[in-house]
Amino acid sequence: MKTVAEVLELLAAEQVAYVDIRFTDPRGTLHHVTLDVDLVDEDFFEEGLMFDGSSIAGWKSIDQSDMKLMPDPSSAYLDPFYAEKTLCLHCSVAEPDTGEPYSRDPRGTAVKAEAWLKASGIGDVAWFGPEAEFFLFDDVRFSVTPQKVAYQVDAVSAAWNTDTSYDMGNQGHRAPFKGGYVPVNPVDDGQDIRSEMLSTLKRIGIKVDKHHHEVATCQHELGTIFGGLVEQADNLQKLKYVIHNVAHAYGKTATFMPKPIKGDNGSGMHVNMSIWKNGKPLFSGDKYADLSQEALWFIGGILRHAKALNALTNPSTNSYKRLVPGFEAPVLRAYSARNRSGAVRIPWTESPKAKRVEARFPDPSANPYLAFSALLMAGLDGIRNKIDPGPASDKDLYDLPPEELAGIPTVCGSLREALDELENDMDFLLAGDVFTRDQLEAYIRLKRGEVEAFEQTPHPIEYAMYFSC
Ligand code: GLU
Ligand code: MG
Ligand code: MG
Repeated sequence: MKTVAEVLELLAAEQVAYVDIRFTDPRGTLHHVTLDVDLVDEDFFEEGLMFDGSSIAGWKSIDQSDMKLMPDPSSAYLDPFYAEKTLCLHCSVAEPDTGEPYSRDPRGTAVKAEAWLKASGIGDVAWFGPEAEFFLFDDVRFSVTPQKVAYQVDAVSAAWNTDTSYDMGNQGHRAPFKGGYVPVNPVDDGQDIRSEMLSTLKRIGIKVDKHHHEVATCQHELGTIFGGLVEQADNLQKLKYVIHNVAHAYGKTATFMPKPIKGDNGSGMHVNMSIWKNGKPLFSGDKYADLSQEALWFIGGILRHAKALNALTNPSTNSYKRLVPGFEAPVLRAYSARNRSGAVRIPWTESPKAKRVEARFPDPSANPYLAFSALLMAGLDGIRNKIDPGPASDKDLYDLPPEELAGIPTVCGSLREALDELENDMDFLLAGDVFTRDQLEAYIRLKRGEVEAFEQTPHPIEYAMYFSC
């Protein structure tokens, strides 16, 4: 956690030439403006940087486009990729005239969510541990080229025709679909690149723990240590930035798209959460899976609002291709200490301090500021209204007989459905003015544009299924 004075010292000590001002738009994309270091002094942190927000999708209209970027010194890091020495600062956005937080700024929402937790008296701090998975594509089969599209059309049409003679050629040591979980090299060909990603993260101040190959072919995960809500949302933006740029330096392409390959596991972003009050873990207790009553209510809130949450935690049309049975991604709105097929899991731990709740449905196409804030708001709503999550589901949910399965509610099946759900269930997000109605309505409009683009575009599988009809 750096202060303004520490950042200014760092600029001098490291002979920094530029300061990169970074902010995140509603879709979760990171943007930047680079300033000569001489412009950055103590006043700069007070006054911020005037900026035209009209070209950022989902923000201001052209007639009232001014906004102020307010850098947060605690987010400071030296850019690990630029040739010139550059210090980066993540910013919240303020209204230029009043200095009030701009209501559609996702980072500002996350700041308000942390404050609301304290104001509610429920806890002092919420810890977040996101686990974003990603793919690295590197060869003719998977690089983003026309061949890839041809390959996928071929593969889906083969699957459609159930043509078992479909020949993939010599796959060498490549992990097959769903067969990539933690093999050594040469099947795992991402060792060096992942190590470089993790070392780079450590160098810019992120606490890291491990990395590994994931279940899908070309799928990977880097492990980082938990932290506060805003801090972890900032860190997730840094993690994506580092992963994209290290991959690029190796001539590869990283993607956090939730389901890039049909028939293989998708990429989730499980979010581990706990609340502490007066230096003590609020989620540890003597109820199911050694949880406290508050933790069970927190789960109740997440499950009750899961379909509205989907609009923020699974905000792409592609998200719903991941949320299908059979790929370790949850479909059912249930919780359990044991199986991974429910929307919420309680990871096993002996330590009361590590007691936490893992939401498994989020994916890494989410804007982390909005997704983490919304998850916290749903959980807090559960605690405030004592929402009972019902009994845990400890059987493998996919093995249940159809009659029993039919009784368990599901998460959303499409982005269209999730946006409708959010429209009808947003009050829990508006508590304490953490989210605002204007912000959520603008977000829904933005995302409905994506739904329309998707629904109105002919899809490769439609050629396979219908071209010859
Ligand atoms: N890739 C799985 C998902 O889509 C998660 C695998 C795991 O448990 O790490 O959520
Ligand atoms: Mg994983
Ligand atoms: Mg997990």
